[in-house]
Amino acid sequence: MTQRQITVLNDLTMRAALKQAWGDSQPGVTGGHEEGGFILQDAVGNLSTMGWPKGAQNSIILPPHPNCKIGDKDIVATFHTHPNTGSDYLQEPGETDQRAVRDDPDLKGEWYEGELVISQEKIYLIAPNGQVSEVGDTLVILGET
Ligand SMILES: [Zn+2]
Repeated sequence: MTQRQITVLNDLTMRAALKQAWGDSQPGVTGGHEEGGFILQDAVGNLSTMGWPKGAQNSIILPPHPNCKIGDKDIVATFHTHPNTGSDYLQEPGETDQRAVRDDPDLKGEWYEGELVISQEKIYLIAPNGQVSEVGDTLVILGET
């Protein structure tokens, strides 16, 4: 698996928001639920997040996001957690995750970098074309906030 950089992770506030989502999803062997959201950029480049409604143990549904925008803000990334660490659960993004990004015409905006998947050990990136790469160690990336 190749390593990949994603610019939203350079932003401390965004890393803090991901850490919060990870904590909120109650990671553990069982009993966790997925949390996710949009990372948005306004016209002057300010980043913000907008959480999605709480997901199930191994799925989450995105609110509508026509033209890769929420209001007048561009979606620059999406993220969701894989909180269940038991052997019944995939840690890395699965086929369904890849397809959800690749086949979503509203996740193809000019600024969209892909979907981050946060698991206990690693953070992965699903590129807009569905390809998965490893971004780095979760503790290292989220620990620095
Ligand atoms: Zn997933």
